[in-house]
Amino acid sequence: MSGKRKLKAMKRLRRKKKKEDRLINNLFERLENDHKYELSRCLLACEKCNLVEDKSLGRPVFTRFVLPDGDYGKATDMSFKEISKDKFECPNCQNIIKAESLDNDMDEMDD
Ligand SMILES: [Zn+2]
Repeated sequence: MSGKRKLKAMKRLRRKKKKEDRLINNLFERLENDHKYELSRCLLACEKCNLVEDKSLGRPVFTRFVLPDGDYGKATDMSFKEISKDKFECPNCQNIIKAESLDNDMDEMDD
C-alpha cells in the first residue's frame, strides 16, 4: 500500500469512527432519557380495532394501527385512557383492555 493510499484509508476509518461515536452518543442520550418514559406495564393492544401502543428507547409511548397486511400504520395522536387500575379504554373503539404489569414477567424470570 502506498503512503498516500494508506493515508486515505486512515481518513476513511476516522470518518467512520466519528459516525459511530455519534451513533453511540445518541444511544446513550436516549438511554439516559429512557427512565422518563419508563412503563410499569406492558404495551397495550386493542384486539377489536388493532390499535396498538408502541415505544422506542428514550421516547414516549405512541399509538398506531396494525394494518390488515401486518404492517404498522402512521403514529396517531390518540392514546389509551386509564379508567382504573390496570384498565384502559381504547380511544378508537372504546374497548376495555386489561394492562399487564411488567413486574409479573420479572417474577417469572426469577423462578
Ligand atoms: Zn380499539
